[in-house]
Amino acid sequence: MSNAKPPVTTNDAGIPVASDDHSLTVGRDGPILLQDHYLLEKMAHFNRERVPERVVHAKGGGAHGYLEIFNDVSDWCKADFLKKGTKTPLFARFSTVAGELGSADTVRDPRGFAIKFYTNQGNYDLVGNNTPVFFIRDPSKFSDFIHSQKRRPDNNLRDNNMQWDFWSLRPESAHQVSILFSDRGTPKTWRNMNGYSSHTFMWINAGGERFWVKYHFKTDQGIENFTDSQAKAMAADDPDFHIRDLYQTIARGEFPSWTLEMQIMPYEDAADYRFNAFDLTKVWPHSDYPPIPIGRMVLDRNPQSYFAEVEQASFEPSNLVPGIGPSPDKMLLGRLFSYPDTHRYRIGPNYLQLPINQPRAEVRSYSKDGPMRYSQSGAQPVYAPNSYGGPQGDSSFMDPGWTTNGEMVREAYSLHTEDDDFGQAGSLYRNVLTSGERDNMVTNIVGHMSNGLDSTVMARGIEYWRNVDLNLGARVAKGLGST
Ligand code: NDP
Repeated sequence: MSNAKPPVTTNDAGIPVASDDHSLTVGRDGPILLQDHYLLEKMAHFNRERVPERVVHAKGGGAHGYLEIFNDVSDWCKADFLKKGTKTPLFARFSTVAGELGSADTVRDPRGFAIKFYTNQGNYDLVGNNTPVFFIRDPSKFSDFIHSQKRRPDNNLRDNNMQWDFWSLRPESAHQVSILFSDRGTPKTWRNMNGYSSHTFMWINAGGERFWVKYHFKTDQGIENFTDSQAKAMAADDPDFHIRDLYQTIARGEFPSWTLEMQIMPYEDAADYRFNAFDLTKVWPHSDYPPIPIGRMVLDRNPQSYFAEVEQASFEPSNLVPGIGPSPDKMLLGRLFSYPDTHRYRIGPNYLQLPINQPRAEVRSYSKDGPMRYSQSGAQPVYAPNSYGGPQGDSSFMDPGWTTNGEMVREAYSLHTEDDDFGQAGSLYRNVLTSGERDNMVTNIVGHMSNGLDSTVMARGIEYWRNVDLNLGARVAKGLGST
């Protein structure tokens, strides 16, 4: 608040305007004049205030911060920003998956955990979740899966029957669905949950040796969850609870942090590991590859403009810097295309020129023009090869790869001894959850399955839980009044 005389309003071209309150008319009650350009600009710009919301992960919040590396990882990775002592600025965004922009923050859903690192070798984006696995393992199922979780085409309502129909027909979903219906399906705040790359990535050291890795961001605030009824009550009380919590905490000067731990697998191990190391529905048990702490992520600055920074932030798993590559994880390979593609549609082809997405590293690409472009890479030739000193590719930055062979197929078969769909979900239920957490999981599943399932889907759903664990299946069946 200030008593000083405010500056004069201008239109978007910077020209002073006469009134914020009155249109230009002929006489006080007279018709509005077409030359009231300021009025026309206000109305026309307002009509264009929205960009399409994200088709998934629409509702979210974010903050700026940094990653600081405290352990030497040079034996495994040569990326500059992972050198011990390096501090890299970043922007993180957390989100729900299925709901729209105005939906409630605390509903049962996985949470997006996306980070853009502004490294000196270009942007590095990790686009993970608060769960280490996912519902499906092939990108061809992604739109089907999301359609089953969103709204019906006829009445625009969400439909539990659709959700359980899809899940029970795709048993590979059992591990993620088990986590979703555990207490971790309703985190208390974004500060109180972990983030996982979920995907396996490749790390390469300066000597060219390759490793497979998974990232775990462990909350320093401790895991805290809402019970199902607390989450539902909060959805009614304050649908923006998670956005508010993160914003207010940072505004108070309390900066949430996460310890970055890595699981690292030698390249050769993947071939005969007991699980397919690239299957997004599986974790690597900690006892096989113990997580190694290497750094700390801190969020210490709120965005100034939600739209400019959170809504227009464009994360893409295809942003991989030298020393880091993808893996044969099919879901990851699909996402390398779909993320930049959706940003071109949602924000426009020059989304990487917006301040929130702009690399801190110098850009010397040959892409040019397009809507809303305001910066070219200097007076350089616009084609390659050229005779005038334009940038040239360098084979020392060769794309990281792996050995593969075989016929072209549309199949998923496994050579790994423990690659069933239910084993890890069962181990979560039996060996990780406490007895109270198991009780909550049964209550959460029964509550959800009680709502609108037809008899075929219900029977298949109960069978699904029997396959995860016989005792869990029996408890779900009993809760649903089925024998
Ligand atoms: P461990 O006993 O070494 O680890 C179990 C892990 O389970 C914990 O460290 C914790 O992960 C996580 N966890 C605890 N409560 C829940 C919950 N309600 N929902 C989801 N995860 C929870 O066992 P393993 O490594 O052998 O894994 C056993 C099972 O634990 C897996 O099948 C998987 O379901 C789950 N899990 C495993 C993770 C992994 O990367 N190995 C990661 C997360 C879950 P955290 O330390 O990350 O908080």
